[in-house]
Amino acid sequence: MMSEILGAAIDNLTLAAVVQKTASLLWERRRVFVLTLNPEYLYRAQREPELLELAGRADIVTPDGTGIVWACAVAGTPVPERVTGIDLMLALLAEAARRGWRVYLLGAAPGVADEAADNLRRRFPGLQICGTWHGYFAPQEAEQVLADIVEKRPQLLFVALGAPRQEMWLAENLSRIPAPVVGMGVGGSFDVLAGRVKRAPLWMQKAHIEWLWRLIQEPRRWRRMLVLPKFAWLVLREYKLGRRSKRR
Ligand code: UDP
Repeated sequence: MMSEILGAAIDNLTLAAVVQKTASLLWERRRVFVLTLNPEYLYRAQREPELLELAGRADIVTPDGTGIVWACAVAGTPVPERVTGIDLMLALLAEAARRGWRVYLLGAAPGVADEAADNLRRRFPGLQICGTWHGYFAPQEAEQVLADIVEKRPQLLFVALGAPRQEMWLAENLSRIPAPVVGMGVGGSFDVLAGRVKRAPLWMQKAHIEWLWRLIQEPRRWRRMLVLPKFAWLVLREYKLGRRSKRR
């Protein structure tokens, strides 16, 4: 089942169910594009239709963040829970360690993906991280990056280039990998996994104020967060103040 808000269809699934769906698509030998949709992306997509079109091309779209979960409820198509990039990545990595899937980490500053890989190998014994590449490669290196990924044959490819660049990269390159693979953008997750940025304590995650923690850790984010009230207003106008009903 899908939920729909502001032109984007979102999978109406729990984290565990998303992992299951991903595994079965991989089992069917598909190339799977996973997009974790956050309010910033969806707000921007209202003005940039190519971003909405990208979300439409994804095989799985998850509600990344409290804002999206709230919006789905307001629109009358609730989703069971928030499924963030980092949580889904960790759940898929646990599955990868169990099933022997190879994992490739593309993105973040030089050195970060390797540090994240070392930590992940300790955290998930048996995990096979088959390759890494930093996210500041020059345009003329792009083919070399793709060639390395093709050669290492990962089943899971995590891309940390920031949104929406990572989604654009996946839309362009995933189909060029001649093997079943799951590709997913994970934003700043490698920085967290490498221990360079700390994730909010669990109580803050549960109180739905992880955004406040991120703001304290990275004050430069404040400008981006201004989008949240604008997004909320857009959702209310669309679904509560009758714009939708007038149109019908
Ligand atoms: N990044 C990258 N190449 C770039 C720009 C960004 O690899 O050209 C990385 C950056 O180092 C960070 C991640 O992409 O690890 C973006 O993190 P952010 O928290 O900004 O992600 P967003 O919330 O924008 O998805």
